[in-house]
Amino acid sequence: MKSHLPEQLYLYSPVWLQNVLVSIYGNIERERRYGGEHSVFLKHLRGNKFLTLQENNTLQKKLLTATLDNATRNVPAYQHLRSDQPDLSLFPLLDRQQVANNTKQFISSKFDVSNLIALYTGGSSASPLKVYISKMTRQKTYSFWQLFYDNMGFNIGDRKASFVGRKLQEPDNNLPPFWRYNIADKQLLFSSYHMEEANLPLYVDKLNEFKPKVVEGYPFSVYRIAEHILNNSLTLSFTPAGISTSSENFSKHHRKVIESAFQCRVFDQYGSAESVVFASECAHGTMHIEPEYGILEVLTETGEITPTGKGELIATTLLNDAMPLIRYRIGDLGVITEESCLCGRGTSVLKELHGKVGAVVINEGRQAPTAAIAIAFEYLEGIKNAQIIQNEPNAVIVKLVKKSDFNPKSEEFMIWELRKMLGESLKINVEYVNDIPPEPNGKYKMVVQNVYQ
Ligand SMILES: [Zn+2]
Repeated sequence: MKSHLPEQLYLYSPVWLQNVLVSIYGNIERERRYGGEHSVFLKHLRGNKFLTLQENNTLQKKLLTATLDNATRNVPAYQHLRSDQPDLSLFPLLDRQQVANNTKQFISSKFDVSNLIALYTGGSSASPLKVYISKMTRQKTYSFWQLFYDNMGFNIGDRKASFVGRKLQEPDNNLPPFWRYNIADKQLLFSSYHMEEANLPLYVDKLNEFKPKVVEGYPFSVYRIAEHILNNSLTLSFTPAGISTSSENFSKHHRKVIESAFQCRVFDQYGSAESVVFASECAHGTMHIEPEYGILEVLTETGEITPTGKGELIATTLLNDAMPLIRYRIGDLGVITEESCLCGRGTSVLKELHGKVGAVVINEGRQAPTAAIAIAFEYLEGIKNAQIIQNEPNAVIVKLVKKSDFNPKSEEFMIWELRKMLGESLKINVEYVNDIPPEPNGKYKMVVQNVYQ
């Protein structure tokens, strides 16, 4: 379990010191992301950006052979599949529960776990999972992010406004400012937990003063601002180059509202902490699947796995050699095509994406989207599964399924996290259950919202 101590120290600091701490952290993070292999790999990716579909397929085959070879030689879970020519079609489908139950079996023996970075994912199913990546994989992942930002003409060091799930100040503390400045990245971080109607004019004024080149973050938070701008016929004194969104699925309506308020395009990104796929929209609104990050396939209704078509998305990393997940059921449904795009890129295209739809828990005007709830559940290591249900305005039921290593402190931390997001008045009723049944479509729902729909 992670310690909350540094976070508490930060939260008790005065605003000026919080700005300094955010900048110090930003500086450390900058080095981690953009040091080492980052620039060389970015140059390589930019050089390969306009390969044809055929060239990309050839390149992927080469990377896949290396991935399968590494997996069958060095990863205990895959050693029984070792052969001179490992074949993807012989790899069984893998789900998050299998990985969560046997995490160590999926780590390459070539890496020392203490040197790896653990990424936590609650995902839409709330069953916490730890995935390890190497420092180099993190740097390369940020090369893919920059390749995406290239579509907006945004470079690291340009001004960026971020709407984040991080707690910038106590959610119960309703005193502005509701933002902190990371000077290392010229990044203004806005709190997603103080976006009550009465506070929104302050957010808009600050955006107008800061004039970010891009706005990024949870679509839900950006949507709140956009709705406020349109409802009050406000005009912004700047036009961003783009709005970058990820983490939550959102509707065409949300996109239209955001684009109309900010007078620019939304660029959506799709990926996951499992580090198996990276897809992002170009300026023509096509979601390109990055060929060198991973292979995305479709499990059709008839049980076939195909490179294109409609069905459950199955992902194979080509990047994460420390913990390669192969034919991994990422938990979303979608449609993959090989249609051409006006931008000139020859990649597979994620035409439709379903799943991970972000329900929201609400208490006294405070709102916590699924992505933020997922963060609150991420620390619960002795918990197999979790679900939050809202049946009445000021109360929630949290269902937890214990594992053998359950720590009673988990409940305390979870309540602490939820109250920080949604206020002290929220009634939280914790129920320990043996199982949380999936929805009729076979997927777990982490947030069930029965009041506000
Ligand atoms: Zn395109």
